[in-house]
Amino acid sequence: MNNDPIDRSGLRPRFWETTPLNRMTQKEWEALCDGCGKCCLNKLEDEDTSEVALTRVACRLFDDTTCRCAQYPIRHQFVPECISLTAQNLELHLYWMPETCAYKRLHKGQPLYDWHPLISGTPDTVHEAGVSMQNRTVPEFEVSDDDWEDHVIEEPGT
Ligand code: SF4
Ligand code: SF4
Repeated sequence: MNNDPIDRSGLRPRFWETTPLNRMTQKEWEALCDGCGKCCLNKLEDEDTSEVALTRVACRLFDDTTCRCAQYPIRHQFVPECISLTAQNLELHLYWMPETCAYKRLHKGQPLYDWHPLISGTPDTVHEAGVSMQNRTVPEFEVSDDDWEDHVIEEPGT
């Protein structure tokens, strides 16, 4: 896992199958992220129905080559509204989170996919499986808010 931007070394074997989300260590919690990048996309929410549509318009800090936040440790200096997901606030955010997201799946009692880096042993499989946003986004500074509708997409990998 040398090219994995998330440190997934030294974790308890298959900890996600034995440990509830709210009992995981911070390192285990961080290791659950599969690196799909779908939570860094802008969404459109219908005010009446609360239905959420995903767009391919990505947050200004999203680098779609690496499929990562370009400034993750200091991102709130640039994007104060970026959500720090925790076991405590997860439920509040489920309605807009991607269906394949490991946090959402485990919350629903579903297993991780075979392409998840914790199962496959490599961060590349999320991209190879066509689930991630690698090379598929447009930066938000190139698209006016009014035109987001033109960039609505189906969630990759679902
Ligand atoms: S959607 Fe979930 S698994 Fe994918 S990058 Fe965001 S937090 Fe990680
Ligand atoms: S600030 Fe970083 S982690 Fe937050 S949405 Fe933007 S790219 Fe994603």
